[in-house]
Amino acid sequence: MDNHKYLNKRRLLREFLLSCLILLIIFYIVSRLDLSEKLYAFSRAYEVIDLDDMLFSLGLFLPIYMAIFAVRRFGELTILVRESSTDSLTGLINHRRVQALLAQEVSRAQRFRRPLSVVLFDIDNFKDVNDSHGHPVGDAVLRQVASLLSSAVRSVDYLARTGGEEFMLIATETEGALAQEVAERMRLILSNADFGIGRPVTASFGVSQLRRGETVAALLQRADERLYWSKRDGRNRVCGIKNDTGSKSA
Ligand code: GH3
Ligand code: MG
Ligand code: MG
Repeated sequence: MDNHKYLNKRRLLREFLLSCLILLIIFYIVSRLDLSEKLYAFSRAYEVIDLDDMLFSLGLFLPIYMAIFAVRRFGELTILVRESSTDSLTGLINHRRVQALLAQEVSRAQRFRRPLSVVLFDIDNFKDVNDSHGHPVGDAVLRQVASLLSSAVRSVDYLARTGGEEFMLIATETEGALAQEVAERMRLILSNADFGIGRPVTASFGVSQLRRGETVAALLQRADERLYWSKRDGRNRVCGIKNDTGSKSA
């Protein structure tokens, strides 16, 4: 992150110096060739062409053109930034973006000694959905999972699709026990929903709370391990802070 800022500052400085150099070269050429005198001589020779009006038009046109160009570039960049951080299938935050957000939230939580939890979850036997109903139906299920859960989480939390049928919730300002309840609520929402495929869609969850001095990798590893326990113990369940011995909670 800091490295990026540094690189951007260096690029700005380089562009500024390059602009100064180009300006100096133009000034040198204009004065060396006496271009302004030649232009005046030209306009005196052909009086129908009014040089003042031409220069005035050019002076108006250039800033207007540059403003339109800048607005269009800004719009394009905004779309690019949004697309590079969004999962195109579900519209959720993608893996890249959630990694950056998690790093930011972990350092904030460590610095201000605030609670932070993550929930990892993975749809159960999702391969069977594809095998029985086809990939497009599998895609529709993923979209419905995202839409059902997006409306169930707080606006201050981050719900992301981190891979094929794998998701992550960053629960800010949340203790592990509460995050486990949130995961349990998400589990129930999914298992009670009708996906129109003649069988329920369930998911297994792993929850962990950030410990003092812990790294992002260690936090995720603990949640992943608990997700594995949920799968191992029969799927459609949540393992979290209350399951440190590896037993199931749902
Ligand atoms: P488990 O309960 O152990 O997680 O079993 P599973 O079948 O969900 O897990 P597995 O890893 O065996 O299969 C995941 C499947 O998810 C296989 C892959 O084709 C499917 N998948 C991954 N990404 C997508 C996607 O974008 N769309 C669809 N339709 N399927 C996807
Ligand atoms: Mg998986
Ligand atoms: Mg799965």
